[in-house]
Parts: sequence; structure tokens; C-alpha cells
Amino acid sequence: MARIVMKFGGTSVADIARIRNVARHVKREVDAGHEVAVVVSAMAGKTNELVGWTREASPMHDAREYDAVVASGEQVTAGLLAITLQNMGVHARSWQGWQIPIKTDNAHGAARILDIDGAFLIKRFGEGQVAVIAGFQGIGPDNRISTLGRGGSDTSAVAIAAAVKADRCDIYTDVDGVYTTDPRIEPKARRLAKISFEEMLEMASLGAKVLQVRSVELAMVHRVRTFVRSSFDDPDAPGMGDLLNPPGTLICDEEEIVEQQVVTGIAYAKDEAQISLRRVGDRPGVAAGIFGPLAEANINVDMIVQNISEDGKYTDMTFTVPSGDVDKALAVLERLKASIGYDVVQSEAGMSKVSVIGIGMRSHAGVAATAFKALADKSINIRAITTSEIKISILIDGPYTELAVRTLHSVYGLDKQ
Ligand code: ASP
Ligand code: MG
Repeated sequence: MARIVMKFGGTSVADIARIRNVARHVKREVDAGHEVAVVVSAMAGKTNELVGWTREASPMHDAREYDAVVASGEQVTAGLLAITLQNMGVHARSWQGWQIPIKTDNAHGAARILDIDGAFLIKRFGEGQVAVIAGFQGIGPDNRISTLGRGGSDTSAVAIAAAVKADRCDIYTDVDGVYTTDPRIEPKARRLAKISFEEMLEMASLGAKVLQVRSVELAMVHRVRTFVRSSFDDPDAPGMGDLLNPPGTLICDEEEIVEQQVVTGIAYAKDEAQISLRRVGDRPGVAAGIFGPLAEANINVDMIVQNISEDGKYTDMTFTVPSGDVDKALAVLERLKASIGYDVVQSEAGMSKVSVIGIGMRSHAGVAATAFKALADKSINIRAITTSEIKISILIDGPYTELAVRTLHSVYGLDKQ
């Protein structure tokens, strides 16, 4: 017997027929004798609709009321799945975040989970009940419903799995796993059998949209073995209930991955913009003076490149932000012109960031050089580069994104293994 948390995303519960299919997945695990808790998202498109309504009611609205509205989508699905399961003879009951409770901080609209009463859910297991939990929501210190930010039901599921010490957290979605890159760009992309927490964190942060980044962080911290798999598979096909090797991608500790490749995947993010400050004073406090106010304005600065000053007096500072934030960033920089002191600001939108990710990079030299050469052979110009222990990110002109992704995917042999 194992303890399993199963999470179903919006497309998996988009209508009653799909909810029925989801219920069959749940029943399969229950019939196999496992302890099961289920976390659901709102039906596909529902949260967007609810968010739209809050904006229509008032563009500037109270975040507590936003949460009251948008948390309702998950409540509907939890109830519908509980009804469907009961109808199939499964002992099920729906629960909202506040009932368990899933305690969060006060950051309405983007709350963080602080604590989950695992004992409450373990008691349900003891009663043979399948708890169907509304994802994406909790209760804040102000005693009001809170939500965890878009895509937050992944985080609900992983946090619940950690709280009840589940053997596995299965994230059922509309793709059948995590791929070496986006299959819409490179049809030769392969599904990974396993990927380490660290690599998945990079993949998710760098544009692979399978999981909310926060959920991967939590899985990494609490060592929750997390499985990404498809809800569209036939629930009763052979192997679906396999405890160790069900179809999908396992996100796990790197120790569990025996055959570690040097490069695991290629991620990309479009719509980046590059901003350069020319002839900034080269003295202590300048970077803090620039990036502090940008952070306060909630602008997500990504790559940062500072040149070594030639004369010890001036330098150039280049960084990237999401294209949508350029105007806001330029306004902040304009305000800082007198205090920081720089010649001009130059900005250019329509860039992309392509990243090569792999834990094997820690112990292999030449991974970056291979990427640079491959891109050069395709005449793709590199605008900026940043690296970490397990990734290389390269900023290029947007129209070359697909070519760069395919080129890198093939140069590391990812389409062959
Ligand atoms: N329904 C929420 C959203 O669309 C949460 C989720 O699906 O994970 O963002
Ligand atoms: Mg999602």
C-alpha cells in the first residue's frame, strides 16, 4: 500500500466527461488499496474568466475580494469530482482550503503556504475516505480565502504531499511528461523518464510551463517524488497503476538517476527585452542604486551583464526584463538619471533567451563552447550569456528562437538517445 496525492489540472477537468475520466484514474488507485488524496484545479478557462470579471468590475480592486472570486473555480471542480466518485461507489468528500486548513501568509493573490494540517488528511485516510481538495487556495492570517498565484494548484498538491508524507505526488496534465524541449518546436523532442529537482527547477523557471516554479521548489526542499503524467491516457490501460514506473516523467533526487546525461533539456523564453545603460559611473553602490528601485517597482530583472571598466570611471550595464515591463523600467531609470548618472538608455524588445540545462555540466568541460559553435554555424548572433553550475542561458534575436532550440537540441544529441 502506498500513499498517493493525485492532482488534476484544468484541461483534465474541463467538462463532466473528463471529470468522469479523472474519477476512473482515482478509482484505479483506490481499488489497488492505496491511500489517496486528490487536488483539483478549476475547469479549463474558468480562472481566466473569473479574473476577467474582477477587472471588469474594477481595474483597481481589493486583492482580498479578487481571492474570494477566483478561488471559487476550484470549489466547483472539487464538488463535482466528489459527486462523480461517490456515484462510482468511491467514498469521497470535497474540502476547501480553509476547512483543512491550508494556512498561508497574507499576500492575497500570490500567497505562500505556511502550514498544512497533515493530521486532518491522515485521519481521512484512516476512514478510507478520498479527500478531494480544492487546489490554488488557502486561508490567510486575516481569516479570509487566499490564492497562491496562477498555476498554484501544482503547489497545493506538492505541499499536501509533503504534509502527509506521501510516497508520490502525481501531477496529471494534458501532456504525458516533461520533454527534452518543446515538442511543438522540435518534433524529435523525447519524453524524459526522470529529471532531477534542480534541473526541473531550471526548466520551469526558464519557460517550460508544465509546473508552477514554486511547486518544484517545494518538491525539492521536501524531497517529494513528483510524477508528471497525462490524464488523457486510458485509466485502465496496462501499466497505468504501476507503483514504480507508471508512464510519465519522474522528478526526483539526482541520486535516483543512474544514467545522467551531460545535457538534459533545452528551454526558452520569448518576449525578453534588453536594456543598456551607457557610461554608468563605476563606483560602489551603482548596481544597488539601479536594481533596488527596479525590484521595488516589481520588475523582474533577469540576465545582468556589467562590463569591466576600461578607464576605472565608467562602465556599461546591460540587463533583460520581460518585454511587457520595458516602459515601466524605462520610467524608473529616467527617474534615477540624476542620482545614478549615465549617458543614455538603450532598449530593444523582441529578444529570446534559450537555455541549455543539465546537471552533468558540473563535471564536464566544453558544454558552453559547443553551444556557441553550433549557434555560430547557423549565423545566430549571441547578445548576452549567463551561466550557472547547471545551465547556460543565451540571449538572441527573437526570430531565431526556433532555429536555436533545434540546433542546440541536436548538437547535444538529445534527439537520439
Ligand atoms: N486555476 C488556477 C489557475 O488557472 C490554478 C491552477 O490551475 O493551478 O491559475
Ligand atoms: Mg497548471
